[in-house]
Amino acid sequence: MVKVLCVLYDDPVGGYPSLYARPDLPVLEAYPDGQRLPTPRAVDFTPGTLLGSVSGELGLRGFLESGGHSLVVTSDKDGAESVFDRELPDTDVVISQPFWPAYLTAERIAKAPKLKLAITAGIGSDHVDLDAAIAHGITVAEVTYCNSVSVAEHVVMMILSLVRNYLPSHQWVRSGGWNIADCVERSYDLEGMAVGTVAAGRIGLGVLRRLAPFGVKLHYTDRHRLPTDVERDLGLTFHPTTRDLVPVCDVVTINAPLHPETEGLFDDALIATMKRGAYLINTARAKICDRDAVVRALESGQLAGYAGDVWFPQPPAADHPWRTMPHHGMTPHISGSSLSAQARYAAGTREILECWLENRPIRDEYLIVQGGALAGVGAHSYTAGNATTGAPG
Ligand code: NDP
Repeated sequence: MVKVLCVLYDDPVGGYPSLYARPDLPVLEAYPDGQRLPTPRAVDFTPGTLLGSVSGELGLRGFLESGGHSLVVTSDKDGAESVFDRELPDTDVVISQPFWPAYLTAERIAKAPKLKLAITAGIGSDHVDLDAAIAHGITVAEVTYCNSVSVAEHVVMMILSLVRNYLPSHQWVRSGGWNIADCVERSYDLEGMAVGTVAAGRIGLGVLRRLAPFGVKLHYTDRHRLPTDVERDLGLTFHPTTRDLVPVCDVVTINAPLHPETEGLFDDALIATMKRGAYLINTARAKICDRDAVVRALESGQLAGYAGDVWFPQPPAADHPWRTMPHHGMTPHISGSSLSAQARYAAGTREILECWLENRPIRDEYLIVQGGALAGVGAHSYTAGNATTGAPG
């Protein structure tokens, strides 16, 4: 028997929905690059329902309990007295979502001698101390591609809403006003602007593809260059480093994983090299940006806007300065947890569990760490290290 400890975000304050806005989800055939969608043997949930909060249980309870395994689901994840800490010592498998991360620090891993598998129900395993996972022989896997398109759509939305000054304009209407000049004094067309992405992986390339019809100049940097035909078709300009990219861009979107190479990348010095009045969108991970440098840049006008959905830690404190800084379009960490994405990462989590329980190989594209080393997609996109601690981002 295996014990699975699953950390999910809280149910809606208004109660678990009985009726949804839409009756179903579109059926997708494959991911944009041809990768197969999750392929569990079956699922016990209705796609399009809330699976990522506690009552949704990622649709796993029936499957696990019918196999004789136990499932503990909680949202109580922080502090030594948390349910997570109390349940961890005899746990075999931890499941956590980046939106509500159970930080698997070295200290927690040391207190979990039975822990063999850490699944990220989503993408981005920086809440796991990868060094400690490697040292303890823990397999780390995530559901690659499950929400990359969800995030790419969100990035495009955030770019447009900052550049067009959408959120303050909406607020004027809600408060009974019709203040056109107030709304448009910070409103521009995106057309003609230079937009650059830091990383052109699944999300970054998805953003580039979605923005190509907007008549913008597209730029990117990545550790590996895209194929020449993709660069040509989208009219992309490649820059060898982030430092080369940012001075030429009006809009910069960050789509790289958080790992030692990217932590703290956007500090005062880098932001000072951006165009005055540039927009910065970060749906990757908060700690890629220096928290206070972002606030200073918005206050001075060096940045015209900042938007994203990633914070550190999560949830952030009530007085986190990104809640109140000027010209921001922040949301809680939601871009990768649409109902559409939840159906995919719940299915992908079950696929990983089925493989692990039946001693079948987990897909290479899901693996981050295995057998005491970075593995699969992790060996390609991550560097070993620990990004679970450090300064608030
Ligand atoms: P991918 O693995 O497809 O892409 C990541 C890209 O980042 C790869 O092309 C990788 O390069 C590149 N990269 C890694 N390090 C650097 C670096 N130092 N400089 C430039 N590029 C770098 O992942 P996704 O696009 O699907 O996701 C990216 C990140 O977005 C995730 O790691 C996660 O942190 C975040 N995310 C956020 C979500 C949200 O809800 N807000 C949901 C999903 C993801 P290469 O592979 O060529 O080495």
